[in-house]
Amino acid sequence: ETVQPDRTFKYSDLSVRLAAPHQLQPKPNVSELGFGKYFTDHMLKVFYYEALGGWQIPEITPFENLVLHPAAKVLHYAVELFEGMKAYRGIDGKIRVFRPEMNMDRMNASALRSGLPTFNGMELIKCINRLISIDQEWVPHLEASSLYIRPTLIGIDPTLGVATSDSAMLYVILSPVGSYFKHHEMNQGVSLLADPRYTRAWPGGCGDRKMGSNYAPTIHVQKEATEKGLQQVLWLYGEDRQLTEAGTMNIFLFCINDQGDKELITPPLNGLILPGITRNSILTLAKEWNQFKVSERKITMAEVCQLLSENRLLELFGAGTACIVSPISFIEYMDQSFYLPTLDHTEPIFRTLLKHLKEIQYGYVDHPWAFPI
Ligand code: PMP
Repeated sequence: ETVQPDRTFKYSDLSVRLAAPHQLQPKPNVSELGFGKYFTDHMLKVFYYEALGGWQIPEITPFENLVLHPAAKVLHYAVELFEGMKAYRGIDGKIRVFRPEMNMDRMNASALRSGLPTFNGMELIKCINRLISIDQEWVPHLEASSLYIRPTLIGIDPTLGVATSDSAMLYVILSPVGSYFKHHEMNQGVSLLADPRYTRAWPGGCGDRKMGSNYAPTIHVQKEATEKGLQQVLWLYGEDRQLTEAGTMNIFLFCINDQGDKELITPPLNGLILPGITRNSILTLAKEWNQFKVSERKITMAEVCQLLSENRLLELFGAGTACIVSPISFIEYMDQSFYLPTLDHTEPIFRTLLKHLKEIQYGYVDHPWAFPI
């Protein structure tokens, strides 16, 4: 999955057209931010035209609507992929992005799977850093808030027919965000609906790529969960009802295993889950700490039920850019209620992990994962 170095756009070609003073938007109150409702004053765009030799020059422009041909492939066959990462304003006032090179690698992997053009990730990071520095006043000053970065790549060929798009548009928009979950969810934990009639990914599919087409079919199921008063969907797979992901988070189980030892378990990267950057970071930190066993292996609902009945399930939590780490306290499965003791411990590992990740992201500690813009 390597990218041909000559088939890329370059930061050194970046052109910048700033918004006029009257185009600048007022900044919302931090308490009203929510998630993905407000956008900054500028955006980044790069077009790709096969007929013109591939990638064109990257441009920063005022934030504006897109103009697309009604036959554009993205609008019919969902030729689309995206990324999600965050910039954090540190305690020293510096702005840092968390492990952006991993998002670039994942974005290129999604592009390959979508038949869309790949690019040099470092060049896009440099363009994004410039965009953030232009809109730096939009990076919230309050901890628990951050600037969400949404790189997007779409196929824009103005022709019907399921075929490679010879033209594409890569763009990046920025959205100041508050905490993804409401405060009480962090203190009470989130509740999940596990319904084995639904699955979000399957072997040979593309559930391990961040393509928009993976997300549209989840909305109806999420609505069912909401109607039952539950917050997220626990995605199961297979006859043995493997836990794969929770909403748009990877999932972690902390338990006392059959040998009587503490073990942190997360499902393996077997094509059924998105390779989360938070997941990777948690695995790396937990292995470095070397205080308990850390494994990537299958977890089934039967195992969860057994661990619970034997009081050996300690914590269940989700992990992702939006929430960082989110404790899970309840699962509804086959009309049965399962209460999880995730929040019943004095020093749960989900809290320790959250603290360490935040310390890196907000610059309390120096760490190579935090990439100053
Ligand atoms: N799973 C899914 C389905 C997701 O959409 C996300 C969010 N990107 C994640 C897991 C978590 O990934 P990350 O830690 O890179 O945000």
